[in-house]
Amino acid sequence: MTVLRGAAATDVGRVRTGNEDRYLAGESLFAVADGVGGHQAGEVAAQTAIEQLEKSFTSRTTEGLVDAVHEANAAVWNLAQQHAEKRGMGTTLTALALVNDGDEEQLALCNVGDSRGYLFQRGDLMQVTEDHSLVEELVREGQLTHEEAQVHPQRSIITRALGMEREIDVDAWTLTPYAGDRILLCSDGLSNEVGADRIAAILRQLADPQDAARELVRQARANGGNDNITVVVVDIVDDGGKAEEASAALAADTADAADADGEEAAGASLERSRPPTAGGEPPRRGPAGGATATAVRTRPPDAAAPPGGRARPPRAPRARRFTWRVALFLALILGVLVVVAATVTWYGRGAYFVKADGEALSIYKGRPGGFLWFQPTKVKDQVLPLSQVPAASIQAVREGKVTGSLAAADRYVNNLRDQTTTTVPTPPTTAPPTTAPPTTAAAKTPPP
Ligand code: MG
Repeated sequence: MTVLRGAAATDVGRVRTGNEDRYLAGESLFAVADGVGGHQAGEVAAQTAIEQLEKSFTSRTTEGLVDAVHEANAAVWNLAQQHAEKRGMGTTLTALALVNDGDEEQLALCNVGDSRGYLFQRGDLMQVTEDHSLVEELVREGQLTHEEAQVHPQRSIITRALGMEREIDVDAWTLTPYAGDRILLCSDGLSNEVGADRIAAILRQLADPQDAARELVRQARANGGNDNITVVVVDIVDDGGKAEEASAALAADTADAADADGEEAAGASLERSRPPTAGGEPPRRGPAGGATATAVRTRPPDAAAPPGGRARPPRAPRARRFTWRVALFLALILGVLVVVAATVTWYGRGAYFVKADGEALSIYKGRPGGFLWFQPTKVKDQVLPLSQVPAASIQAVREGKVTGSLAAADRYVNNLRDQTTTTVPTPPTTAPPTTAPPTTAAAKTPPP
């Protein structure tokens, strides 16, 4: 069973007079909302979004979390429509939940706006979410560098927020929880003030999530505190054995790979974990709600675990290669095919038969009537007139008398001829028996 432990900290900062950030840190649902809009409307938008999210998150799946974000959007939108002074209010929303997708416990992460979700894994910090902000779009289009975006005067302009439109797109990710990983949710009051390296250093140094959250907020204030600052740190304290299972699978996979070819050292080919966005556009739910949300998984942590470190999940399956085992198998298959072909040929072409061919017998190579694609061929033509074949053998030669060889076929014909000769009636007594030619002599056909 997966167990999460979350902690949060928030601060108005050193410039703003009110805090329009809101957060949620429950047992299995966490969120950060950063409201926008004058006359406290931003506070209302953020508060409304958080409350509606918690209320609507009843189906504990990634899809259910996406639906809850849509419900939160509807709540903020409807409120703004009902109160003229709140028109134009909106809020970011980044939410994390422990869900059951299928029978598997996963972490679902959803985002609208420029509040962020990070994965902290094995000491590395990776941004999972994409900012829906003007400067980030310019960065993606290549018109700004990340460094320029950090100090751009319009860096706070967001291009997507709850409450701005009746329907919105929600980005969603599904992450596999591994014990020891941390998820960081934050408003831009942190990410604009504290660099990723410093955030990672604080997450490395402070094991307690509450201490880490407070220190991140303190650091943002120290660096200027130009905006409200909100941080939620969620630790995966138990993953229900996922890491151990993954480690066993990796060990088996590695052993198999080493046994197969010995070329790839165990664990050497694993890719480093990185945010799912690096592999392409995150999956989105369309405004009409017809498309499915989810599910880009983060890659598993790399294999270079320190001694005593966490267990490692399995690597992605690698492409199979041609090995000596494959070659042996193919050779075996080829051998079987050759034997089968030889047997068929031997059966179809290895025999001879004697058959009545019109009024005489001929000798053929092959099988009477042919076998498969092998048709019989005549090797000796008219070796014995049919009239000289004993009556008892007529049926056999009409069907074709099969013999194992040409010599056997010749013997069979000679045998028929001899039978005919020995059954000839005794000639009349008026002629001397010793001089009378056998009546069959004239009928004999010279051998071909
Ligand atoms: Mg802000």
